Amino acid sequence: MISDRLTNEVAAWLEFYRGLGIDDFLLEPRPAAVPQMRKSVKAAPSRPPSAAAASEQAPSPAATGAAPGDPAEFGAIAASAAPRTRETGAPRPPSAARSLSLFEAQAPPRAERETLNDIRSDLGDCQRCKLAGGRKNIVFGQGNPHAELVFVGEGPGADEDEQGLPFVGRAGQLLNRMLQLVGIRREDVYICNVVKCRPPGNRTPERDEVDACSPFLFRQIEAIRPRLVCCLGAPAVKTVLGIKEAMLKIRGRFYDFGGGKALAAVHPAYVLRNPREERILREDFEKIKDFLTASAKI
Ligand code: URA
Repeated sequence: MISDRLTNEVAAWLEFYRGLGIDDFLLEPRPAAVPQMRKSVKAAPSRPPSAAAASEQAPSPAATGAAPGDPAEFGAIAASAAPRTRETGAPRPPSAARSLSLFEAQAPPRAERETLNDIRSDLGDCQRCKLAGGRKNIVFGQGNPHAELVFVGEGPGADEDEQGLPFVGRAGQLLNRMLQLVGIRREDVYICNVVKCRPPGNRTPERDEVDACSPFLFRQIEAIRPRLVCCLGAPAVKTVLGIKEAMLKIRGRFYDFGGGKALAAVHPAYVLRNPREERILREDFEKIKDFLTASAKI
């Protein structure tokens, strides 16, 4: 039995959406558990589109929706696959011309939003999955809470577990080198992982572990609201975007993600194991740089 209060609330939400010009989203099928807010865009724009093109490529009002009064849980947004964006990979058009982004449409002002500290407090001395038993430190994440770029790795290794910081081992050194190569400062980005505790022997995190931990990841992304989320390796791509395809097939592709984009990139650890593949990691980082440069200009 649906209560009057719920009926009124749903009616208010629908009204809100209509006010934004959204009236077709309820017709779209909802995929199951994984986020589907994506549309592959082969390459990042290397330069901003013209004003006309930009407004043509701007997210349609239907791309903006999340519920009013929503606690801005990106995980919830992603997991329920809120209305898909229809943009094509273009950086956001100039403010006067552009439509509301997903974030802008549903977001309370930053001051009212959950902060990374709130999320860290909520995580506490986490015992939500079996990884808790083997960890030395929770590796929550590190970096600029207002970053334009967030990296999502797989999970802490031995060095990260020891220090409680992400990407401080060999893979981290390679990440640092790639950042340096494309002129991005590590302190300007935010770095975190799909799981926050080290899996034994650095194995891939298991389903129940990802399920327990990923809501915190989505909340972190939501708190930061970056322009770009770079998913490093298959577990990050699968968790963030719900895509299971082979990394070497999809790496370098951009996907719609919330009001921004997500890039599938190879994991630095893959390059450590296959040193001759460094070129593809460099290419992925150049795409990151191109995307951020282009989208900053408009
Ligand atoms: N590999 C990851 O995926 N994350 C880290 O933090 C370190 C190595």
